Amino acid sequence: MTELHLPGSEQYLRSSTPHNPSARQEPSAVVVARSAQDVADAVRVARERGWQVAPQATGHGAAGDIGPGTLLVDLSALSDVAIDPVARTARVGAGAVWSAINSAAAEHGLLGRGGTSSSVGAAGYTFGGGVGWLVRPHGLASGHLTAVDFVDSAGNQRRAADDADDESDRDALWAFRGGDGVGIATGLEFDLVPVSALWSGYLLWDAEQIDAVVTAWARALPDVGPALSSTISVLHAPPIPLFPPELQGRWVVHLALASTRGEEEAAALMTSLESAPPPAVTTWGPSDADRLAMIHLDPPPGTAALGGGRWLGPDAARLAPDILRAALDDGSELLMVEIRHVENSDPALPGAMTSTPGPFLLHAVGAAGEPAQRERLNASLHHLWTVAGPAETGRPPRPSARGSAQPGPH
Ligand SMILES: Cc1cc2nc3c(=O)[nH]c(=O)nc-3n(C[C@H](O)[C@H](O)[C@H](O)COP(=O)(O)OP(=O)(O)OC[C@H]3O[C@@H](n4cnc5c(N)ncnc54)[C@H](O)[C@@H]3O)c2cc1C
Repeated sequence: MTELHLPGSEQYLRSSTPHNPSARQEPSAVVVARSAQDVADAVRVARERGWQVAPQATGHGAAGDIGPGTLLVDLSALSDVAIDPVARTARVGAGAVWSAINSAAAEHGLLGRGGTSSSVGAAGYTFGGGVGWLVRPHGLASGHLTAVDFVDSAGNQRRAADDADDESDRDALWAFRGGDGVGIATGLEFDLVPVSALWSGYLLWDAEQIDAVVTAWARALPDVGPALSSTISVLHAPPIPLFPPELQGRWVVHLALASTRGEEEAAALMTSLESAPPPAVTTWGPSDADRLAMIHLDPPPGTAALGGGRWLGPDAARLAPDILRAALDDGSELLMVEIRHVENSDPALPGAMTSTPGPFLLHAVGAAGEPAQRERLNASLHHLWTVAGPAETGRPPRPSARGSAQPGPH
């Protein structure tokens, strides 16, 4: 019988304290799954007691909606990673995080389609679409998910695959590909990408240069190589050594870029940026999986943040300076506003969301303190969506987007 960890126990506290502390998690009990059978047992226990089940690998996507009457299934121990270098595929446990997957893949000259933070789990990320540094040449993570082992709502162990005998298992894979899936995944299989000339890095400017820098970035996009993915953001630089002393405590423009085909893919962008003042920091250069994981300057675990996103159409390039400037407005509670260039022609597998609905992804976060601050943050986000409105595609970033202020990538 699966061990239930109850409120007050050390394991309960460990499993129900998510990466993003803006979420409150007060499940009736916690189960730590060490096998698919443990997950199946947990589902049966929850059914017997009339509880809901909440799977969680890292708590990065914690939405603050885990309350009594819920059994939290901690999947972090299902962290196995197996790479097949010949087939160029990975088979990972549902608790595996991108740092482990990509360091194993990199030993064979391969990479997975991980996102900006290497501590994010492959499961929740992929089931939500998964927009990472390889998005322009290689698409969304969801579009390359080939199989999922999962436990259904009756506690049965199943395998979602395109060639499954049972139609419902074929449909389940469709739903796991960007539609948050059905049931609780215990393992995933997906394709990897051969990468031989990885370049990545970031450039920083004081936000006083926002118009010149953002305009130069947007102007260059039609001419950059298809293997270059980039994000441009304004963020409030904390007083940590990652930022030079003159930028600490100030608003900065942060341009992060990654190319799977070397320096040349960014040549048009670098030429365009010559029209802007020189950056205070440049780290653009030859890269590896570890370096790639550092370029987004994500804050450390434990940062309470809420945010949201929008898929944007081509007009976002023209509106980019106005959109990013919204973070600098007096009274704004936003700490970071980012536009990702995600345009691609990747031949994705069919699924709930396996291709990018627009060429740009807007994402914003702010500090999530007391209720009054959350309300002000919601107002700031509302203002941001209004500024970006003319470029909106009308599709939310996740099929299950929850409310206006939700835990976000920061
Ligand atoms: C710092 C940071 C950076 C990020 N960067 C990116 C990015 O670059 N691109 C991007 O697309 N997203 C990004 N995200 C968002 C991230 O993809 C989601 O928060 C995702 O849900 C995290 O997955 P997880 O498994 O780590 O999270 P968890 O908190 O463990 O899970 C989140 C949700 O995923 C689902 N889930 C998790 N495991 C399972 C399972 N085994 N079976 C079924 N459902 C499951 C559940 O609905 C769960 O509530 C980022 C988030 C953070 C905090």
